[in-house]
Formats: sequence, structure tokens, C-alpha cells
Amino acid sequence: MKRTKTLIKVRCEICDSLNFEKVTDMRHSLIGELSMPIAICKTCGHVTVWPRLSDEDYKTVNEIWYPKKFQKDPIDLKDENYKFKKWRKMWERIEPFFLQRKSLRLLDIGAGQGWGTEFLQQKFENIEATAIEQWKPSQEFLKNKLGAEVIDKDIDENWNKFLNKKYDLIIFRHTLEHVKRPVFVLEQIQKSLAKGGLAYIVVPNVENIDKPIRTDYFRPVHLHYFSPDTFISLLSKCGLSPIANGFENEIWGLFESQEKKFIKVSNYLKQKKLINKALRKYKLIDEYNILKIRLKNLFKKIV
Ligand SMILES: [Zn+2]
Repeated sequence: MKRTKTLIKVRCEICDSLNFEKVTDMRHSLIGELSMPIAICKTCGHVTVWPRLSDEDYKTVNEIWYPKKFQKDPIDLKDENYKFKKWRKMWERIEPFFLQRKSLRLLDIGAGQGWGTEFLQQKFENIEATAIEQWKPSQEFLKNKLGAEVIDKDIDENWNKFLNKKYDLIIFRHTLEHVKRPVFVLEQIQKSLAKGGLAYIVVPNVENIDKPIRTDYFRPVHLHYFSPDTFISLLSKCGLSPIANGFENEIWGLFESQEKKFIKVSNYLKQKKLINKALRKYKLIDEYNILKIRLKNLFKKIV
């Protein structure tokens, strides 16, 4: 992809501020010459792409990224140990809250290969599953093999109006960091919970950067990088309150519907320090990776 001039200045999803400070930019071989600015909100400390690309450009980025992802982990993978690893992790975390249940109304938002639904079908006698997923081979698998209802909508759109029931469990795993309007999406999740229903939400933890920050940790398809504080603040603002949560390299929580409240965060200095530390730690390897990207682009131009 070429460098773009269309950049959009959006308000901070956590605190509504427009006061951002650029800390670095990210590069990736899959998006060629394109770089994306990474900034911190000076009011609350939220890390995000700012200013961000146009919707059209993001569509192109996703079209490049997702076929690679699904190629790496094909739906018909037989290795259950590997494909259910993250779902066993989920079950360890949420099982205590679902012990009495034999049936479950499940909504998986950004269902990917559908393995979350497949895994939970082994845990409950009766599952009514709905999946929001746009990847065509996954839609076939979810419908024909797992008997799930599939909603073919972009998660950033209003999908709530297409649901004909409320849900006991909503899975929104490693997806919030991709969406353009997190508040709009989370409010739809809150509205979709049945009485006593719970939402399992997971994102990467920006306070635990464990790989080259500019060329691997920051990814072309991620728009937001949450810390445990900004994550909980955002969810509370959308009426989602944690009944269990934790954080390591990922932040997870099991949320119930509650009254909306705003928990103020002021993590700017702490966050800036952490990002600068990671930039220093991975400087050499990032520079080496960027050099490789530049050479690859140059080579493409010559050939
Ligand atoms: Zn903010």
C-alpha cells in the first residue's frame, strides 16, 4: 500500500479528548510503504492510531491481513490441542459462573473459525449459537457443521437490530482492538445480554509489550491498545461491569450489564514511560525489520 494523505482525527474513545501526542509509527511488511502513527491521549493515556486512516484504506488493510490469518489457522484443523487452547483458557476463567447451566444462548462476535462455538458445544447439552462473522468459509462451517445462525455484518455496523434474542454468554475475544467505534459496539453488546447474561471480553495488554513494538506488537489491523485501566474505564462507560477479570499479556474480563458510569483514568505519563521503554528495548530489531521492509519495497519497484 502507498503512503496515504487521508488521515482522520477522531476523539479519544475513553475520555473524548482530541489532545494526542504521537509516540512512534508502526510498519509492517504486509502493508508495504504505509506507516501508521501511534499516539497517546494526553488526558487519559489511551494508546491508539491517531490520526487514523480512512475507512476505505482500512478495508484494504483488512483485505490483505485476513486471508493470511485464515491461511495460517485453517478451519478444518484436526489438532484439537492447538485449536482449542485459547478456548480451554476461557473455560478455566468462566466455568464457575456457568456451573448450573445445561443450555446456553451464545453470541460469538468476530467468531473467526468458529472454534469457540465448537468447543462450547462439548460443554453444554444444548446451545443456541449466533455468530457475527464475515469470512465466507467460516460462515459455511458455522452454519452447516455447527448449526449456528450467522450474521454477515461488519462489527462496526448496527448488528443489534438483526438479533432476535438476548444472550447468556457473549464472546468478544481479541476483537475490540480492531473496531472503529468501540463505544458503539460495546453498547450493542450490553443491550444484547439476557438477564444474568455475561460478556467475555479479551484484548492484548499494552502494559506488557513482549515483541518488537513498531514492527510486530503494533499491527496494521489494530486501532486501539488498551491497558487494564483504560479497558475497565471504557467498559464501565458502556454499562459493562466486571464480575471477574485479570491481566497478563492479555487483559480479560467477564462482564455483566450495569448502570453506565465513567471511571476517570490519567495514565498518560505512566503509559508514555512504558512505550518509551519498549521502543528502547526493541530499537535494533525494529530498525532491522524496517530496513527489510524498505528493501522489499525497493525490490518490488525495480522488478
Ligand atoms: Zn483519552
